[in-house]
Amino acid sequence: MSLKHAEDLLQSHFGFSSFRLGQRQIVESILNGHHTLGIMPTGGGKSICYQIPALMLPGVTIVISPLISLMKDQVDGLQQIGIPATFINSSLTSQEIHQRIQETVDGKYKLLYLAPERIDSEHFQGIFERLPVYLVTIDEAHCISQWGHDFRPSYRSMVQKIRQLPRKPIIASLTATATPAVKEDIAHLLGISDHHIFTSKLQRANLSFSVQHEVDKATFIESYLRSHPGQTGIIYCSTRKDVEKIHEFLVHKGFSAAAYHAGLSDQDRIRAQEQFSYDQIQTIVATNAFGMGIDKSNVRFVIHFNLPKNLESYYQEAGRAGRDGDESECILLYSPEDIQTPRFLIQQSELPPDLKKLEFHKLQEMKNYCYTQQCLQKTIVQYFGDDHDFSCGKCSNCLQLDQERTEIDATVDAQKIFSCIKRMKERFGLTTVVKVLRGSNSKRLLQWKLDQLSTYGIMKDKSEKEILALSQWLAAEGYIAIVLSDQSRPLATLTAKAVEVLKGERRVTYQQRSVLESLPTTSKINELFEELRLVRRTLSEQEQLPPYMIFQDSTLKEMSRKLPVDSHSFLQITGVGEKKYQKYGDAFIQVIRTYVENHQLQPVHELSTTPTTNDKEPSHLTTFHMYEEGKSIEEIAEVRSLHRATIEDHLFRCGMEGFAINWDLFIPKEYEALIIQKIEALGAHKLRPLKEELPDEVDYMAIKAVIAKRELVTSN
Ligand code: ADP
Repeated sequence: MSLKHAEDLLQSHFGFSSFRLGQRQIVESILNGHHTLGIMPTGGGKSICYQIPALMLPGVTIVISPLISLMKDQVDGLQQIGIPATFINSSLTSQEIHQRIQETVDGKYKLLYLAPERIDSEHFQGIFERLPVYLVTIDEAHCISQWGHDFRPSYRSMVQKIRQLPRKPIIASLTATATPAVKEDIAHLLGISDHHIFTSKLQRANLSFSVQHEVDKATFIESYLRSHPGQTGIIYCSTRKDVEKIHEFLVHKGFSAAAYHAGLSDQDRIRAQEQFSYDQIQTIVATNAFGMGIDKSNVRFVIHFNLPKNLESYYQEAGRAGRDGDESECILLYSPEDIQTPRFLIQQSELPPDLKKLEFHKLQEMKNYCYTQQCLQKTIVQYFGDDHDFSCGKCSNCLQLDQERTEIDATVDAQKIFSCIKRMKERFGLTTVVKVLRGSNSKRLLQWKLDQLSTYGIMKDKSEKEILALSQWLAAEGYIAIVLSDQSRPLATLTAKAVEVLKGERRVTYQQRSVLESLPTTSKINELFEELRLVRRTLSEQEQLPPYMIFQDSTLKEMSRKLPVDSHSFLQITGVGEKKYQKYGDAFIQVIRTYVENHQLQPVHELSTTPTTNDKEPSHLTTFHMYEEGKSIEEIAEVRSLHRATIEDHLFRCGMEGFAINWDLFIPKEYEALIIQKIEALGAHKLRPLKEELPDEVDYMAIKAVIAKRELVTSN
């Protein structure tokens, strides 16, 4: 079975011209008959990894998934592109189940989605043995491991059943969130050798992370939604009460929002989910009950109202933003008291001591994320064992680095804190340590004779808040470890790194930061894109399908960038396969044609004679061809090892040479007039003075685009 054939299927069914690197390795490994484990971030493209082999292997592929609502979505999506698939779960009657099993035995389907409980049942085991199964895919494979954040015993016992099947199917397991311990556990249980474990870069280049400390959360959300009109997003709260409160607040303020939590009736939850999927409401306020079954690709922001219980949950929930690869934001609103509830729940839980300590450790790592000063995206992927060194350049920490900041030598203060922890024999929590350093007269402190320590009162000159913030940062940087005692109390302890500081072998520097004035904005409104969205909406209503199942936002954006006006160029758009072209092509092409005519743009088919693989091709054209293929500016910069600004300049140059660059895509419509006004007042020879005169959300790219567009108009 050749990879070339796999690639042909990828193009004809899914409309994708090539596999992503991780996908290629996983598909190849499965086709070579190996049990395989793929770890890929959300939005990385896990489904393709088993859907393509399923089309190539004989018989049927079983896909085990814990997410019932996702099953229906996935099956609908596959049927949309002409792949015969079905699912069996508790939402069906026994007659429907019987019929689907019979149809599977008769060879009607290439993929059958099942919940793990089914495989585990004795009754189903007999049926399972009769099916011609060559590949079993375990989606959300971290549920197998008891070290994971979502362990399901039925997942673990099901594995034995699969391995006992007479036909010995290939097992493909996939997950987005596996710490090194979870990875090892899955591999061991499924008998996967190291050669067949593939971990994609876990970084999600299109996500901008930020932590907002001690803001008024409701006001923050209100102003965020106001400055991002038309964008869809999720606001996660940890309690039903907060969900209700924020939902009411938003509705009162006139936003289109729905609430979702497990306390609502099935009917209300289904309605909220559908309204969100069909783009009928823009914001959903939800507990973590929402999302496991959501495949919506154009979620532009995920805001966490409270601290999640660990980084696995956080990355999974935040990762629901930007599945379509477009720029999206993940914002965590942090206030120190947020930790109390999850900590209390762990302390009171019935978990065995080891697991309790592990859960506590994970919560602590989550808290550390809020205090670290290093790149937030790097902090997350490091947690999952990905050690490659990078800075995303756009999280709230990286942006701080670009701003004015003061570096402070905090070695002496750190030594005071560490020595106090040491003198307190590492038997107290940070709050008590801070009280000792401040020289508090609290009764308990005196009772425990902590006032007799030499470190008592040595940081009197600082406020409690300041010392606590510094200590929390020291924990985030790995100098202090907060662990759970056998009596379930949190204790501050010292790591080897802190000992080096105490011995004078290491210095500690801390960055004093100014508060970021505003978050980066990702809103770029494009006229044609909006028109294409309307076409999609009409089709979605006609066909009773969520809009993203017609075409994803990224596909519509590529159309608005490349302006395809015939079948050939339309089929080149990422996400357009043959089936979808036949069904929807005309409706979209018609709108694009009208737009091209009205704006006198140059459609893409007129440019397609330009060679794409010419060694002597000018650099800016190479960039342009990659841009035409749908790659983002960041991706092109990475592949070509060039600076982002160079790539932007290439694109502008192409635009000025008459290539089809849709300027509107770079220029926020609402600011174009203002940018022109400033250019007229200050001239266009220097960008910085212009940038300084414009609102923060206007980036350099927008200014350069307006300059280029104006030059083009005046030269024509
Ligand atoms: P995951 O399950 O890993 O979260 P999905 O399988 O839902 O990811 O895919 C995420 C997005 O990436 C989808 O929009 C999908 O259409 C797109 N995608 C997947 N593979 C490719 C590819 N080879 N080329 C372009 N887009 C792809």
